[in-house]
Amino acid sequence: MTDTAVNDFVIAGGGTAGWMTAAALSRFAPPGTSVTLVESEAIGTVGVGEATIPQIHLFNSALGLDEAEFLRETRGSFKLGIEFDGWRREGESYMHAFGDVGRPLGLLPFQHYWLRAQHAGFAKPLQRYSLNELAARTMRMYRGKTAAGREMPYAYHFDAGLYAAYLRRFAEARGVTRVEGRIAKVARHGESGDIAALELEGGERVEGSFFIDCTGFRALLIEGALGAGFDDWSNFLPCDRAMAVPCEGGGDFTPYTRAIARKAGWQWRIPLQHRIGNGLVYCSDFLSDDEAAETLLANLDGAPQAEPRPIRFTTGKRCVHWKNNCLAIGLAAGFMEPMESTSIHMIQSAISRFLAVLPRGRGEPATVDWFNAQSSFEWECIRDFLVLHYTANEREGRPFWDHVRSMELPATLTARMEQWRAGGFIHREHEELFTEIAWFQVFAGQGVEARGYNPMADTLPEAELRALLDETEASLVEQVKPMPRHLDFLQGFVTGKTNE
Ligand code: FAD
Repeated sequence: MTDTAVNDFVIAGGGTAGWMTAAALSRFAPPGTSVTLVESEAIGTVGVGEATIPQIHLFNSALGLDEAEFLRETRGSFKLGIEFDGWRREGESYMHAFGDVGRPLGLLPFQHYWLRAQHAGFAKPLQRYSLNELAARTMRMYRGKTAAGREMPYAYHFDAGLYAAYLRRFAEARGVTRVEGRIAKVARHGESGDIAALELEGGERVEGSFFIDCTGFRALLIEGALGAGFDDWSNFLPCDRAMAVPCEGGGDFTPYTRAIARKAGWQWRIPLQHRIGNGLVYCSDFLSDDEAAETLLANLDGAPQAEPRPIRFTTGKRCVHWKNNCLAIGLAAGFMEPMESTSIHMIQSAISRFLAVLPRGRGEPATVDWFNAQSSFEWECIRDFLVLHYTANEREGRPFWDHVRSMELPATLTARMEQWRAGGFIHREHEELFTEIAWFQVFAGQGVEARGYNPMADTLPEAELRALLDETEASLVEQVKPMPRHLDFLQGFVTGKTNE
């Protein structure tokens, strides 16, 4: 007999994670599914999280959001990549730009030809072979195909609070019930230990058959009630605090996020339509909160719009994200610093993984195991990518940077670095988030030297390789020239004057 019962979902928490989940369930869950979201205005949300990666398009377009409306509602801007300023050495910067670097020149990925040219002394910085970076560095933005038929993958900067509010309207219009109140207790069934209901201050009881924990760092359900356990990764990523402050617009309206290395961490700069988001991620063993606030305020492009607000965290993830009839999404699932703008993406990918196996009831053990294994894999790959930025620094004589350079590494990262060093080889596992090109840009940008490259790259005569590299660069420069400036393009786009 087929089980036709659908779940009564209860989402605990209404930050970006809660409302993204509510919006997705309201759009995709079958008829008869009820979705209730409980949140507390008095507690509020974490209130940061403004930079994304291109995969956000998949989420927004699956919901059917209109892009111009989305950018108007969230006061967003376009993003072509992330600039890492001073991470290798003071005064040097590189970019993890989205999209291709170079173009196929033969049998092998571009990095082998570039490494060959580098060994021979005629390679130019990667920037010269990246359409996104060339456009970003000249403050340009374009959406659609260039004259040469290429596209620039892009993401957004946006106000995550406004995004949650926008998705709340979307979800409520599709039947999601919002309950205001503070969760005082999580009630459980005796035998299975499953969650039975959320009991609110004031006595209200919100029952359901499946619970999604989006209560942020509090992790009230997955940890508080179910004790999922936490994999602490502060031995790999020791930053444990952030100080955030928005400021008035000023300086360049960059179509990219800036991540600027500082004394004991790094600072983000994210331009939105109405303000610039700024924050300092730092390690409290090396910097006090007062020094952090001072550093942040001394490095703004406009007048601060609030007092710097400290946020404490421990890097790591829940040992399992799905336990019994409860799934943790967002900060309740864990946290890694936002250097590669991955948190909102991990919310999105958890939602799509969950929808792929949408359970009737609490979920079969084999499905739950699969979900948890996939989540761990995703998080560990991202962790390794973040650690690479720290370990490969040459900021010698600065205690924090000396510390992170000499820290133990995950074995998976050590293996990847050895493969790169030995012969420029980069392997990407199926479904891993960051591409070979992303790893290539960070290896090259951080100055991790490859001793060799795939010898098949030598089959191309040197003169031909030189010509191909020059042509690639010249063509990309030409494609960027007619692109509008980011600000003009954005204004045209949100007012409906230009679609391309
Ligand atoms: P929260 O926003 O904390 O929401 C928790 C919700 O639970 C709230 O509605 C709260 O009211 C509710 N709640 C909690 N306890 C109770 C209770 N007892 N009763 C009722 N309700 C309760 N991500 C990116 O993708 N890009 C970035 O650039 C980025 N930058 C970041 C910078 C920092 C310093 C930090 C800390 C995070 C950053 N993130 C970033 C992550 C991003 O902010 C979060 O992933 C995202 O906002 C999701 O948060 P959340 O919804 O899980 O938690």
